[in-house]
Amino acid sequence: MYDDDIEFDDESCPKCGAQCYARRCSEIGCDDGWIDRYDEDPLWYSPGEEERCDTCVGTGWERWCPKCGYDLQRKEYINGEPSNSTYTQEFEEFSDADPGL
Ligand SMILES: [Zn+2]
Ligand SMILES: [Zn+2]
Repeated sequence: MYDDDIEFDDESCPKCGAQCYARRCSEIGCDDGWIDRYDEDPLWYSPGEEERCDTCVGTGWERWCPKCGYDLQRKEYINGEPSNSTYTQEFEEFSDADPGL
């Protein structure tokens, strides 16, 4: 099944109407939607220099449709096109690589 930290989102999918999921952004270094670049690469960035996270677009949350794979934050399909069979499995594989931040 899914990770414990995945929750049901308030909204349903604008594309297919399915119940959407949400969870804290798993992007490495993402802290409530912002990534501290200095932390990642002190040579190129100044202390405190932050960049908006692409994955959650600055919200700190990933929200997606498990049915068609539509990403509600980025407003695009995660797999580039609708897919209702492979996405869930791919997402779980992706979670396994999550270092637990
Ligand atoms: Zn993020
Ligand atoms: Zn959908």
